[in-house]
Amino acid sequence: MLSEYDSAWSELNARLRGIEDGAGLGGALAELQAHQQRTGFIKDHLESVDRHTFYHPRDSSRFFRVQYNPKRALRFNGNGITAPPSGIVVSNEGCFLCRDNIRWQQGGSQLGYEIRIGETAYYAWMNPFPLLPTHIVVATEAHTSQEWGFEHGGRRGKSMLLSDLVALAARMPGYVGFYNGVDAGASIPGHMHLQFCQRPEDDPEFPLERAARVFEDSDQGANFLSRYPVAAAVWQGAAAEVVEAASSWMSQWTHRNRDRLNNLTANFIASKDQAGDGLSLYFVPRARSTSRVNGLHGLIGGLEILGEVVFSSPEEKKLLDDGAIDYFALASYLARVRTPMFLS
Ligand SMILES: [Zn+2]
Repeated sequence: MLSEYDSAWSELNARLRGIEDGAGLGGALAELQAHQQRTGFIKDHLESVDRHTFYHPRDSSRFFRVQYNPKRALRFNGNGITAPPSGIVVSNEGCFLCRDNIRWQQGGSQLGYEIRIGETAYYAWMNPFPLLPTHIVVATEAHTSQEWGFEHGGRRGKSMLLSDLVALAARMPGYVGFYNGVDAGASIPGHMHLQFCQRPEDDPEFPLERAARVFEDSDQGANFLSRYPVAAAVWQGAAAEVVEAASSWMSQWTHRNRDRLNNLTANFIASKDQAGDGLSLYFVPRARSTSRVNGLHGLIGGLEILGEVVFSSPEEKKLLDDGAIDYFALASYLARVRTPMFLS
């Protein structure tokens, strides 16, 4: 006999599977979002978000955005039930991405959608405090670390991370996906997860993507952005080629950086191109010592690396109101998390 939670889960998953068969994974996830808004699990419908674009004064192809999202500040107040009902055993110290915990922490209101990529089982969960429409956290079924294994052969080795991120992006046109390494914006370092969001309707292209239309540097197997505050490598093409090229380039990168790997982490961003069948994958190395920037409330993660900085505190709102934010201020925030691709 299935519990109420398990039968609601099976029913929803069967319905979403049917939607995915017709409308693709993106369509199934949009329906998961609608379901989670109805159950009250999603607290914010983004109606209070203001987005501001700041252009370079002499070059309108260079810009950054600020998203003022006051509800994001509320996420630090905690979310859900902290003590389990009697008879329930807490898994992995109450990890918020373990299904066993989610079912009691959210009083049954949070349901997910099962996705399998190769041999790995994932659950797609909605983010209760979204940054963009249909903000999904795709977490492994298993409680396994968010650390990006630089070394070869680990269960979450770099190739598997890249190929799963790219495989999901390829199934979700209209979305951007990212992986935030530990100390590079990951808020739950204990449990492996990727994030996907729909592009904002009014501003579909992100500053990083605009900057990547012009490459001025490349080496054997990667292109580099030269007009962006952080060091970024990019691969573009069919999904399988992108994974192949990026994985082999990453092993050389790992080898050349072996003396400082302990101090490094990363952001990866993947998205299906808006026109055509291609896909873009970005890699941004990060220093573990700079997951935050003075003057900003939140962590610097994938969305910030894309060029959209999230403001949520009253102090940050005041900066905007006072006209203290411009293109150069935002470039300088991002430049503070820059670490070079290679030391020499
Ligand atoms: Zn977990």
